[in-house]
Amino acid sequence: MSAVEIRGLRKSYGSFEAVRGIDLTVETGEVFALLGPNGAGKTTTVEILEGHRQRSAGDVSVLGHDPGRHERALKERMGIVLQQTGVDEYLTVREVVQMVAGYYPAPRDVDEVIGLAGLGEQRDQRVNKLSGGQKRRVDLAVALAGDPELLFLDEPTTGFDPSARRQAWETVRGLASLGKTIFLTTHFMDEAQALADRLAIMADGRIVATGTANELIGASTPSTHVHFRLVDGVEPPAGLGVHAAASAYELETTEPTRTLHELTAWALSAGVELHDLEVGRRSLEDVYLQLTADAESDAPAGAAS
Ligand code: ATP
Repeated sequence: MSAVEIRGLRKSYGSFEAVRGIDLTVETGEVFALLGPNGAGKTTTVEILEGHRQRSAGDVSVLGHDPGRHERALKERMGIVLQQTGVDEYLTVREVVQMVAGYYPAPRDVDEVIGLAGLGEQRDQRVNKLSGGQKRRVDLAVALAGDPELLFLDEPTTGFDPSARRQAWETVRGLASLGKTIFLTTHFMDEAQALADRLAIMADGRIVATGTANELIGASTPSTHVHFRLVDGVEPPAGLGVHAAASAYELETTEPTRTLHELTAWALSAGVELHDLEVGRRSLEDVYLQLTADAESDAPAGAAS
């Protein structure tokens, strides 16, 4: 059975439809990332899965339950890490986790949870003495206390320094290796690419693409990206589809051999250097920007926020 099944989900706020009939499946044991620009409908979707919002239409199954029924049997099997949560800051890390574990029928060992969240050294510190990033890890430990099968992570590394981000990624990988299903939302393409087995891009209340990062990048054509810089005053060649991009030039091509041959032949004959020449696949970010821009331009005026 899939961990999450969504069919024809819709959610309206008054006359505004924030989620417009989406279908999604998250398999058990998968790390799944939901991406999308501000206002795309991600939080609305996730909060419906968590049971925090009622849907307007469609079918939703989370671990075989309808989250709209608020069944305890479901709540015991999932953990939620919101962007901001409140725990009693005067308790120590261990006391907080111990207390939360007491609410669950089959909690995970408290010290193991603290270790999984990367808080071993802070175990006996009061929460109010921790850094912002460490407090986020307390939120993660709280979500793990009941040993959930399914974990929702809402922008888990926003505000983290680069090494804390890498540590958080290791934690997510560790949880995945324990067989947990992880549903995360993020604005970071590198994070989605590093962690997610599959991802979905949402824009304007709709899913505009789903698949592995490689599938999304591969499905988008043209697929080879060329980037270079010219000294001031030199214009790029015509006819190759070159466009200006932030003090450089870029082009996309489905014929990289021919295109590079023509570009370098032009540069040699004109006696100009192609500075910082880079040839590569389009990145997930390129694909994301294109898909979300396409969705935006297709949307009826005023629909996007
Ligand atoms: P972000 O990346 O900024 O968190 P999001 O993709 O999570 O965005 P949502 O929070 O789901 O987006 O919002 C989707 C749309 O629904 C937005 O246009 C938002 O203004 C609107 N919306 C969300 N919650 C409500 C509400 N309670 N009442 C009215 N409109 C709402």
